[in-house]
Amino acid sequence: MSSPSSVTVRVPAKVNVQLAVAGPRADGFHALANVFLAVSLYDHVTVTPADSLRITCSGPDADQVPLDASNLAARAALALAGRYGRTADVHLHIDKDIPVAGGMAGGSADGAGALLACDALWGTGASRAELLDICASLGSDVPFGLTGGAALGEGRGEVLTPLETGGTFHWVFAVADGGLSTPAVYGECDRLRAASGTDPGPAQPAASPALLAALRAGDAAALASAVSNDLQPAALSLRPSLASTLAAGTEAGALAALVSGSGPTAAFLVKSPEDGERVAAALAASGTCRAVRGAAGPAEGATVVARRP
Ligand code: ATP
Repeated sequence: MSSPSSVTVRVPAKVNVQLAVAGPRADGFHALANVFLAVSLYDHVTVTPADSLRITCSGPDADQVPLDASNLAARAALALAGRYGRTADVHLHIDKDIPVAGGMAGGSADGAGALLACDALWGTGASRAELLDICASLGSDVPFGLTGGAALGEGRGEVLTPLETGGTFHWVFAVADGGLSTPAVYGECDRLRAASGTDPGPAQPAASPALLAALRAGDAAALASAVSNDLQPAALSLRPSLASTLAAGTEAGALAALVSGSGPTAAFLVKSPEDGERVAAALAASGTCRAVRGAAGPAEGATVVARRP
């Protein structure tokens, strides 16, 4: 079979329904119990043969995306090429719908998407385990971009165990103006805990049994009572205006309101798509966010959606 002339991969954003963060380890990372749910907000990564590695990006946040070798999509292409002894002579185009620096792992998604796209373009025949291994070398959230669905991430978040889900959960996301740096939010979490004398808890935090049961049952009300995010106080400390976004969604009837990962995107769990429309309209009218998006999870991980012969 001849190699395709271009491959497009669709890759989802994530929301953390539980993010339990231990104190900083000696290597500076934090051990996590990170329950990821992939949601139907997607970036598309298209890879085409080129003379040398080149990246372009389109979408509302495109001007905030680095187009050099620091882009996770470029790093993924280079890592795969390195492993298979070839050059990463491709044009990567990212059609970006996932908010940048929004706590929804958009850069990580692009890394996973570019890896799968290059793998299909080059026909490397890499195993799933090999691809996951390259993902883990790129960043803690990258493996989940490949797998999607729902998963528990332990260690730095990169050691993934797939989780069963018993139904679809509906969400509304309020996108903030401007992003938050993930390392800055972790730093603020450590600072707030030290200042208040809060014990960061066990060296390896555990997933909440009630939360896992709610996911398994597909029970949105039970999930709403169990969601938690240890980074939320730090995100609120760095971005106090987020409190009014969370309040606007709660007042509009969301089952749960929480900061997505390191923020500043606010995530609202709702009963149904119809409730989601109501909450979305109220958030849009509240003037407390830049954009509002509805989505559902679990969503499929990185998937080849187009392959031009
Ligand atoms: P996470 O939820 O994993 O903490 P995030 O969603 O908050 O991440 P990203 O959108 O992944 O944040 O972007 C974080 C930073 O990563 C950006 O500010 C940018 O400098 C850099 N970056 C590298 N590659 C990409 C990419 N493909 N898309 C967006 N940002 C990227």
